[in-house]
Amino acid sequence: MNWTFDLLLWYDNAKRTLPWRETGDPYCIWLSEIMLQQTRVDQGMPYYQRFTERFPDVYQLADAQEQEVLKYWEGLGYYSRARNLHKAAKLLAAMDKFPSTAAEWQKLPGVGRYTSGAVASIAFHERIPAVDGNVFRVISRLFAITSDISKPATLKLFERLLLDVMPSERPGDFNQALMELGATICAPRQPDCTTCPIVQYCEAGKSGNWSLYPVKLAKVKSKQLNLAFMKVEHQGKQLWRKRPEGGIWAGLWEPYGVEAEELIDVEFVEKAIFETFKIPKEKASIEPLAPSVTHVLTHRKFIVSFWGPVFLSTFVLPDGYQWIEPEQVANLPKSRLIMNVTAAFLQS
Ligand code: SF4
Repeated sequence: MNWTFDLLLWYDNAKRTLPWRETGDPYCIWLSEIMLQQTRVDQGMPYYQRFTERFPDVYQLADAQEQEVLKYWEGLGYYSRARNLHKAAKLLAAMDKFPSTAAEWQKLPGVGRYTSGAVASIAFHERIPAVDGNVFRVISRLFAITSDISKPATLKLFERLLLDVMPSERPGDFNQALMELGATICAPRQPDCTTCPIVQYCEAGKSGNWSLYPVKLAKVKSKQLNLAFMKVEHQGKQLWRKRPEGGIWAGLWEPYGVEAEELIDVEFVEKAIFETFKIPKEKASIEPLAPSVTHVLTHRKFIVSFWGPVFLSTFVLPDGYQWIEPEQVANLPKSRLIMNVTAAFLQS
């Protein structure tokens, strides 16, 4: 008996029933791996179901417009995942068959070391590790590893260690079992060591020192930015834009807005309106439409305020913006932040 055997035995009995585990379809496995990065299973599941109903295979996804793909991704965050998924689907649809090795999968947009290892091991049984945050946590606790997991050399160390013990007949299940243990028992804050199938092998479980692992020294400083969105109207239509390629929320829609490093107050907004639309400040009649909110993304924090309404008769249309009928707004793909404010915007 060893820990890998006990882990697989536990996985066979305790694993959650998930739709992508009921299939050997590489498309579904790849999709689930992309969709569930930075997303909990219970949050991602409705998205996965809706997405696979609309795009049941790689050909349907490849044929879709990017705006529709983004609409099905709306609210999941990390939208570059959806755009890369779509680009990769176009490349895959042109191939005779799906690639079967991690090295080939890594050539596709949005497929990195982890995803390629997960897809190749689960769908094609390649004996290759897939180290995500869950696996880092479980393995560092199991062997009391104090190497800094933010360093690339540590990833290689973990991969070598896993490759040494990975059973050749069930590599995909082994990777999934480690992820499952990290997701359900070996939690970041409160691991349930008493029910853990590998506690007898686990250095941190036996000593109770689990909080020391994994070691992560590099901390990325979070950047703060202030955003103000405005309800700007002309003949019943609202001013919106599709965000440009290459930046955050690329391809998603938002109402007219400005950003600043300093705090945005009513004077700031009036000045922005005056400078952009060339209308006198006293005609802008700007008021807050809703309380400001804080919106936190990885390494970024936004203080977001909402202003208006501004009714324009004559105006200079700012670059990239267009007039949208209020009833069309619901059909535009938007970030979660903008989804949350749209209802208030439409009603005010
Ligand atoms: S014994 Fe505890 S710390 Fe060790 S792997 Fe299991 S849950 Fe994690």
